[in-house]
Amino acid sequence: MAFSSLTCLQQRLDAGETTAVALAQHYLDRIQKYNPGLNAFVDCNVPHVLAQAGASDAYRATHGARLLEGLPIAVKDIFCTSNGPTQCCSKILHNYHAPYDAHVITRLKEAGAVLVGKTNMDEFAMGSSTETSAFGTCRNPWNTATIPGGSSGGSAAAVAAALTPAAIGTDTGGSIRQPAALCGITGLKPTYGRVSRRGIIAFASSLDQAGPMTQTVRDAAMIGAVISGHDPADATSVADAPRVDWLGACESRDMTGLKIGRPREYFIDGMHDGVRASVDAALEQCRKLGAEIIDVSLPHTKYAVAAYYVIAPSEASANLSRYDAVRFGHRCDSPEDLLDMYTRSRDEGFGEEVKRRILTGAFALSSGYYDAYYLKAQQVRTLIRQDFEHAFEHVDVMATPTSPVPAFRIGEKTDDPLTMYLSDVFTIAVNLAGLPALSQPCGMADDLPVGLQWIAPAWQEGAVLSAAAAYEAATAWHRQHPALFTGDAA
Ligand code: GLN
Repeated sequence: MAFSSLTCLQQRLDAGETTAVALAQHYLDRIQKYNPGLNAFVDCNVPHVLAQAGASDAYRATHGARLLEGLPIAVKDIFCTSNGPTQCCSKILHNYHAPYDAHVITRLKEAGAVLVGKTNMDEFAMGSSTETSAFGTCRNPWNTATIPGGSSGGSAAAVAAALTPAAIGTDTGGSIRQPAALCGITGLKPTYGRVSRRGIIAFASSLDQAGPMTQTVRDAAMIGAVISGHDPADATSVADAPRVDWLGACESRDMTGLKIGRPREYFIDGMHDGVRASVDAALEQCRKLGAEIIDVSLPHTKYAVAAYYVIAPSEASANLSRYDAVRFGHRCDSPEDLLDMYTRSRDEGFGEEVKRRILTGAFALSSGYYDAYYLKAQQVRTLIRQDFEHAFEHVDVMATPTSPVPAFRIGEKTDDPLTMYLSDVFTIAVNLAGLPALSQPCGMADDLPVGLQWIAPAWQEGAVLSAAAAYEAATAWHRQHPALFTGDAA
């Protein structure tokens, strides 16, 4: 049972072969057994999980099943939940209890999902390795000496080790796709505006987007269908977004006539040979399935990381100014006056990387530098979006590597922020352009998973899902699981 997809668990529930309580207990047992070695979960309230599962079984008996009835789902510690702590893996939110559920959480609950707990992440989602978490680093199930990627590393590790069949992450510059790639699972970042950001602790508001992290493409679609849709309480949630046939898109089995763009800027020197070989082989597979592979160019790609590291920290510096120790979160001992309370609480509460972003962002927005940095970065952002628009005049989707390297060793990049920032060279432009993209497993390099990224025009999640579903149906990479955690798989 351990590595069952949501789709398969749903069939078993519908057939009466198992119950929500039995499923919850199964995953709780695995969390108890394996989480100490992984640190994927930072909060798991056993009685609360079992109570939700019991309520779901009762609901099914009286009303029938809702879309995610009885299915266990974990969520990143960035989502506000009215039950239990929401700490964004930061000391500054120590023991914070949110007064309400994020819109995504409400949607999951209304669909009958059983929320199994909060997953580890980089502090405030700033990072690519989950090493900046106030709760300590999370480990990659494929090799526990390596990082699981980030910032949604806990969600990725939890799914990869089958501590939960699915999880939710957020993606500002790659934080769903890069950890999904490094842990050998599927991760979908929807179009910006597809999923409400209400109750998601803000990092960079013009980039943040929530999405599913799962064993299969169809599972991602099942969750996408539930969490997407307009929320009048989030001004950036789009009211009349083109609809997606989430599950229908996953029926696709061949790629006849599909035009796949291969952006030449995404196949660069310095990328790991095993990653390149896996992605080349994946494209060859797509050709066999009937697709046409077309070389395209996204000429401003080389400026994406630089533009992102002006825009995201600028927005973060504004968003994080609310942590003032007045109404909630960490407060320093015996402050001398108000200013001392602000400065000392923030100094104690924020980690190094978060402080680096706040300082960079405040600098980029300061008078005299605004035009040179922030305004320039916004102009570059427009050019990057236009690059995609031009390329999509010739192709339906694009395929690229998700990450230039497989999982690296814990500690390898912590002293070198710029090298860490380069982890997202292939994911960041997609956020700047607001596009949907999905990472799925497509090979192994150095005994670690490699991810294939699909990118589509805005609102065309269906195109991403179709291409990924056809590839998945023809390959077996998504059925590989880390040996350490398969021991007691039923
Ligand atoms: N790694 C990138 C950063 O550190 C992206 C993080 C994210 O998508 N939340 O900002």
